[in-house]
Amino acid sequence: MRTTRRAFLGGGAATVSTALLATPALAQAKARVVVLGGGFAGASCARELHRAEPGLVVTLVEENLTYTACPFSNSVIAGLRDIAAQRFGYEALRAQGVAVAQDRARAVDPQRRLVSLGSGASLDYDRLVLAPGIGFRWGALPGYDEAAAALVPHAWKAGEQTLLLRRQLEAMADGGSVVISAPANPYRCPPGPYERASLIAYYLKTNKPRSKLIVLDAKENFSKQRLFQAAWQQLYPGLLEWVSLSNGGKVTRVDPATRTLVTDFATYKADVANVIPPQRAGSIAETAGVADQTGWCPIDPITFESRLQANIHVIGDAAIAGAMPKSAFAANAEAKVCAAAVAALLRGEAPSAPKLINNCYSLVAPDYGISVAGVYHPVNGQLADVEGAGGLSPADAPPDFRALEARYAEGWFRTITAETFG
Ligand SMILES: Cc1cc2nc3c(=O)[nH]c(=O)nc-3n(C[C@H](O)[C@H](O)[C@H](O)COP(=O)(O)OP(=O)(O)OC[C@H]3O[C@@H](n4cnc5c(N)ncnc54)[C@H](O)[C@@H]3O)c2cc1C
Repeated sequence: MRTTRRAFLGGGAATVSTALLATPALAQAKARVVVLGGGFAGASCARELHRAEPGLVVTLVEENLTYTACPFSNSVIAGLRDIAAQRFGYEALRAQGVAVAQDRARAVDPQRRLVSLGSGASLDYDRLVLAPGIGFRWGALPGYDEAAAALVPHAWKAGEQTLLLRRQLEAMADGGSVVISAPANPYRCPPGPYERASLIAYYLKTNKPRSKLIVLDAKENFSKQRLFQAAWQQLYPGLLEWVSLSNGGKVTRVDPATRTLVTDFATYKADVANVIPPQRAGSIAETAGVADQTGWCPIDPITFESRLQANIHVIGDAAIAGAMPKSAFAANAEAKVCAAAVAALLRGEAPSAPKLINNCYSLVAPDYGISVAGVYHPVNGQLADVEGAGGLSPADAPPDFRALEARYAEGWFRTITAETFG
């Protein structure tokens, strides 16, 4: 049922921007939505928009022909999985009627509502959804720039970097030392560095047992910490060491040529080093004027519309989504909420306040999974935890429970990739 403007204004619309009051674009011929970025957020959003409003012209702009997924890429690094299992194309989306432009978005003009593409073409829009993922703050950690990543991989965007780290681990002699540098919050996938440490430790234990792994951390605490640390004690005693911020874990300088990581307390010379650098929203967010001084994008938690530019929505890792973590699960949930909100706005209706879910699995070993779940809703203009909802895997679960969670993790990956790209 359509909501009249009067009903809408009376319906608690105080948190929604005045841009809503414009003439409903769907009342005009063929409203156009451009979705920029074909990852878990953007590809899901384009699909959902098309499903919700087949009359819309939805164009997904993605620079790569194939998407390489980060979830489960730590298993590739540990030699437990082929990178081919991480790759997904856009044929199914095209077949369903979403136009996919393989091109790099170069600029966004919010006044003219125009996206300029690397090919020289441009796309105009009624609403733009930005889902560019993350960019790296090259140089924010002295010594670690784009060139350094060719020697000391970050492997925080899956693909060549994942394979480079894998090859370095394979080439390392038994008895070598691996050092991982984990960043301060916020960053993509809060439990990701610790899953990576776990699976590298598994590789070392089973292939190069005289080796050592050190995680240098710019934080005092991390996601699922008690579960990870209990598992490390059980599975990798003496092999994996975690150094917190207060114990000198913050890396202050990197020398990529010698694979040396320097902290205020000590100098670590690694045989294989993995630096996960400080991050920000993908660079097009800044170009479009939707990133604030933090480098991330403030949004309205009901519509995911930018707080800085009207008619531009930001979802996925690039957005400041309050208590929600930067995960593929969250990106997919945000995409669905945003698609419903954009469709409603284009119809001239008021979007309803959402509830969003996140559920992140991590593997500590191939048959040892742990998870964290949360439910979120808008409170005072931010996405906040729903009190009493969500939770962690039990601390004292038996091995078959951990094995079951490892299987659930795989099931989750199959489902979300089928839903996003299938
Ligand atoms: C090691 C690791 C493990 C992880 N494990 C999990 C997990 O188990 N579960 C989980 O939920 N999450 C996990 N994540 C997090 C997850 O990968 C991200 O949160 C998710 O990919 C975010 O989706 P997104 O769509 O916002 O960004 P992305 O997936 O990065 O997609 C962004 C897309 O935008 C495109 N793009 C960017 N700029 C432009 C431009 N200017 N023009 C055209 N295209 C552009 C990029 O090419 C890319 O395809 C993990 C991450 C890492 C690094």
